[in-house]
Amino acid sequence: MTSPTGYDVVVIGAGIVGSAIARELAGHRLSVALLEARDDVGEGTSKANTAILHTGFDAKPGTLESALVSRGYHLLSEYATHTGIPIEHTGAILVAWDQEQLDALPSLKDKAAANGYHRCELIGAEAVYTQLPHLGPGALGGMTVPDESIICTWTVNLALATDAVNRGVTLLTSHRVDSVDAVGDATTVHTSRGPVTARWVVNAAGLGADLIDAMFGHSRFTVTPRRGELIVYDKLAHALIDKIVLPVPTARGKGVLVSPTIYGNVMLGPTSEEEAERRRQALAWGLATGAVRDIVQAYRRARHAGDQGLTSFNAACAVGLALGRPNDEVQQTVAVLLEWARENHREWFHRFEPTAAPAPETLHLDLARAENRPALDAEPLPPRHSPIF
Ligand SMILES: Cc1cc2nc3c(=O)[nH]c(=O)nc-3n(C[C@H](O)[C@H](O)[C@H](O)COP(=O)(O)OP(=O)(O)OC[C@H]3O[C@@H](n4cnc5c(N)ncnc54)[C@H](O)[C@@H]3O)c2cc1C
Repeated sequence: MTSPTGYDVVVIGAGIVGSAIARELAGHRLSVALLEARDDVGEGTSKANTAILHTGFDAKPGTLESALVSRGYHLLSEYATHTGIPIEHTGAILVAWDQEQLDALPSLKDKAAANGYHRCELIGAEAVYTQLPHLGPGALGGMTVPDESIICTWTVNLALATDAVNRGVTLLTSHRVDSVDAVGDATTVHTSRGPVTARWVVNAAGLGADLIDAMFGHSRFTVTPRRGELIVYDKLAHALIDKIVLPVPTARGKGVLVSPTIYGNVMLGPTSEEEAERRRQALAWGLATGAVRDIVQAYRRARHAGDQGLTSFNAACAVGLALGRPNDEVQQTVAVLLEWARENHREWFHRFEPTAAPAPETLHLDLARAENRPALDAEPLPPRHSPIF
């Protein structure tokens, strides 16, 4: 049921985060809509990751991430048991391949303890090969993380979204949010299928979250996506490994792992595609398809019109979307193409922008009023569990 001003809450993005938030909100006396740009839930990063339920042993101690990952581990383990989501507590071993990595293991164990996880053990090379007999030669030692687990990511997202809908959430797929208007107590979210109004908006748009933030007139953070690929081996490989094998993490991330999957395959990856590669691909797409011209034209037209309604940058982004660039890439792609055009064809811009480059913070939406809105009615309803498996 919606209030006279539309929904109480609109959640943007039906990945694992947005679906979980919508499900949780639906346990209260609130009308909630879950908006998703794509034609199904969980079609973003949530469908394509390494599917490990992390204990949080290697998070930065004391951070919000550390607290959330560890709490999420327990909540999701419990939820999986209730709903029948496939999960297997395989455990993991971090393997050290050189002296430097071996020397780093004790401090990783201390870090795990600082994160409240006390079950890591340091083991020698022999114990590594006892547990992982098919590992190639050269391992010097390792650290066990007995509670790292593998899970089915698709099912988690589907379960959360289905639960949310069964609790009364309105799921609106193929509703891409293109702009917002905050007027009085209501925010109108303009989507590719028309406007949706709410008192509160939750931004759970994943890689598109900074774009949504910019639509509200902020530029509080930037998402820098990094893309990866995984190799999934045949189920015949399953006999080779029954635990997650992790490298010793570096400053750049958790690195390439080998892991059994919940479906009985073995997975290797992910790679990490550099920013430069993404820029190259964006430019290649823009030039090959002619999109660069249309995007620059949209930008110039909006500049010429005095940025009414949309900023010129957003107008260019809208064209990027219309030309088929995925929502979570469009902002970056458009920025790359405008930069290229400025470097190579400065004259195209003279009439419209003698000085600065476009910036999302030039959006002019009045948010001051949003902060003064009445609080949500947070009286909890009894949980309505709807096991679907
Ligand atoms: C290679 C890789 C491996 C990973 N491995 C793991 C792992 O093993 N374990 C783990 O816990 N985490 C892992 N992660 C991280 C995890 O996948 C993400 O943290 C998680 O999926 C993020 O979920 P989300 O809901 O925030 O984003 P998403 O799943 O991307 O959902 C955001 C949704 O918002 C929608 N959206 C965006 N813009 C708009 C708009 N304008 N209008 C409407 N909808 C919009 C998108 O279409 C998308 O469906 C990994 C990530 C990567 C990239």
